[in-house]
Amino acid sequence: MALYGGIEAGGTKFVCAVGTGPDDIRDEIRFPTTSPEENISQAIAFFREQHKKEPLTALGVACFGPLDPDPHSPKFGYVTTTPKVGWAQTNFVGPLRQALGLPVGFDTDVNGAALGEWRWGAGQGLDNFVYLTIGTGLGGGGIINGKPIHGLIHSEMGHMLIPHNWDADPYSGFCPYHGDCWEGLCAGPALEGRWQTRAENLPPDHNAWDLEAHYLALGLHNIICTLSPQRIIMGGGVMEQRQLFALVHNHVYTLLNGYIQSVQILENMDKYIVPPGLGNRSGVLGAIALAEIAAVN
Ligand code: ADP
Ligand code: ZN
Repeated sequence: MALYGGIEAGGTKFVCAVGTGPDDIRDEIRFPTTSPEENISQAIAFFREQHKKEPLTALGVACFGPLDPDPHSPKFGYVTTTPKVGWAQTNFVGPLRQALGLPVGFDTDVNGAALGEWRWGAGQGLDNFVYLTIGTGLGGGGIINGKPIHGLIHSEMGHMLIPHNWDADPYSGFCPYHGDCWEGLCAGPALEGRWQTRAENLPPDHNAWDLEAHYLALGLHNIICTLSPQRIIMGGGVMEQRQLFALVHNHVYTLLNGYIQSVQILENMDKYIVPPGLGNRSGVLGAIALAEIAAVN
């Protein structure tokens, strides 16, 4: 059976793994995200050792963005305009390919996680669904007509603009580009900025969570109306607050106001907006799923 390598490149840490799927991860390492030079060398060293033990067929990289996922572009495999210090215009795939001589798949962290969920998790059997992460940032990706969502570049659902009632919530949002976009109002740092304590310290019955669910639902309403996903998977640190799911279900139901006549929405909302089937492993397993695709392309 072909063996694959996967890299989940996150804003705070890297996870590199070798395996064939969730029940067969042969080895894994984690290290903090620092500079491209250091992190790419660390990844190469790990996969070189693995490749010696048993040859790898391909690698996949699920990475924070913005990045260039278009195999026909001269900048394919680059992290492009990221505000992350030291990483703008980094050629990520090139050095991996050169050092390891393997095909390398490359996509956003959220498209990668969506692929992982499609292959082994909560997206199995669906041709159209969205995966969102609500953590340090808010990112969205997914599968449309059986393919990861790409277009001009890749989607940036986290930067949708949603209604913001400044009287009820004077917090101005933290997005450096848009202030109170969806990410600016909803991701972990927004909870901390608004309530002056880290999100994980807010008690489950704090009214922060109802406001959070309201904001999340506004963006979800837009996604449901534009992409018509068959399911929405929500992961990331903030969604560890499991009480949020029921609140989000209620707010989405109320906002849609009966307009979308689907039993998924009208009767089965708890199966429509769901946590990841792979828990916090969607990203790294998605990177392995990206490698599977790279191997046959
Ligand atoms: P990253 O986005 O860096 O990959 P996470 O998905 O863990 O990492 O997101 C980190 C953000 O999520 C932080 O803003 C943190 O405050 C928040 N967070 C992490 N765990 C929890 C939790 N259990 N409850 C609420 N918020 C959390
Ligand atoms: Zn923004």
